[in-house]
Amino acid sequence: MGALRSVYLDNNATTQMRPEALEAMLPYLKEMYGNPSSAHRFGRATKTRISEAREVIAGAIGANPEEVYFTSGGTESDNLAIKGHAWADKKASGGHIVTSTIEHPAVLEVCKYLSKNGFDLAKVDVDADAIVDPENVREAIEDNTSLVTIMHANNEVGSIQPVKEIAAIVKEKGVTMHSDAVQSFLKIPVNVDDLGVDLLSLSGHKVNGPKGVGALYIRKGTAMRPLAHGGHHERGMRGGTENVAGIIGFAKTVEIGLAEMEDNSKRLKAMRDELQRRIAETIPNVKLNGHPEKRLPGTLNMSFECIEGEALLINLDMAGLAISTGSACSSGSLDPSHVLMAMGIPHEIIHGSLRFSFGHENKMEDVDYVMEKLPKVIDTLRAISPLWDVKKGRPISLEEAAGGALRH
Ligand code: PLP
Repeated sequence: MGALRSVYLDNNATTQMRPEALEAMLPYLKEMYGNPSSAHRFGRATKTRISEAREVIAGAIGANPEEVYFTSGGTESDNLAIKGHAWADKKASGGHIVTSTIEHPAVLEVCKYLSKNGFDLAKVDVDADAIVDPENVREAIEDNTSLVTIMHANNEVGSIQPVKEIAAIVKEKGVTMHSDAVQSFLKIPVNVDDLGVDLLSLSGHKVNGPKGVGALYIRKGTAMRPLAHGGHHERGMRGGTENVAGIIGFAKTVEIGLAEMEDNSKRLKAMRDELQRRIAETIPNVKLNGHPEKRLPGTLNMSFECIEGEALLINLDMAGLAISTGSACSSGSLDPSHVLMAMGIPHEIIHGSLRFSFGHENKMEDVDYVMEKLPKVIDTLRAISPLWDVKKGRPISLEEAAGGALRH
């Protein structure tokens, strides 16, 4: 038996903070405690650093600094983008919103809330690889559509959406376009002009920054209403004293992550592809979920037939492996993943799905470790599954199951 290690492969849920980000933050948790709104030297010092951080985030997405608004993370950015625009624009264009069936709950739940409060909602389906067809978005847009919100890359299966093509259609119709780029940022290029979006959400803790900080890009001229009223923070768009240390840590990780993006993404993809290849080669009856190529470099979602994902997760956790079934937000609930359901995957297969998500600290040895543990756990679980024929090494067929039932 090999030694027990601890391997973290849940980087789409959250990431380890870069030491450089922590170092950059520390002074702002100690001696540099001035309120950026204060006129004295303590306040001016932190205000300057926030301006610099804003420039870093803006530069990373090709925006102007005055179009970047700091928030508490991806969820708040999505809320502000969707509610903020929907409320501001309702009179002018109407109350219709278009989204997709595979969005993160931070988008879907906001849309659901609005649909119960005077707005109409259209949800565009995805194909079997979890990709939105831009033509379906065109069809969903009505005369009174005020916002289209489609994520850049999916958090569960990693499929990358054709946001540029979708935004071109949306703009042709004179509608505002939002994209949640929380998962794609610093893994693939994210440029607001290239994508053609008006609103774009980012989060710090998904990119090796601190938790509790994020940003919303708002293109100049986009109709917006704030959600949090208070002081004049963030040019009146988001009241509340800024998370100074968080903002500085976020900017630091973005600075490094952007410089390393190309190399890092190559490494993530190499590890991801190696794991995918070895799982497919070693374990029978497995299936890849998500687009084979148009996918985030570090994301691998696979279904294991005749396996209960929760049992798999617990067994792998005991073996030191941190992996997720579906999205982190839905763990704790036994509901099948809405993303895998939208892709048309049967319930029993969805329940045996695992998401491996690599980060920049992972090494190829981590793939070896997964392959040391995973096949054994799968064998053990299949051996006790009533749906698996151990002798034949395959699932029990419908006829066999019916025959078995008839004998009893
Ligand atoms: N959007 C996507 C696509 C995500 O994956 C997540 C986190 O799981 C969020 C939004 C929410 O971000 P945060 O945790 O910063 O609120």
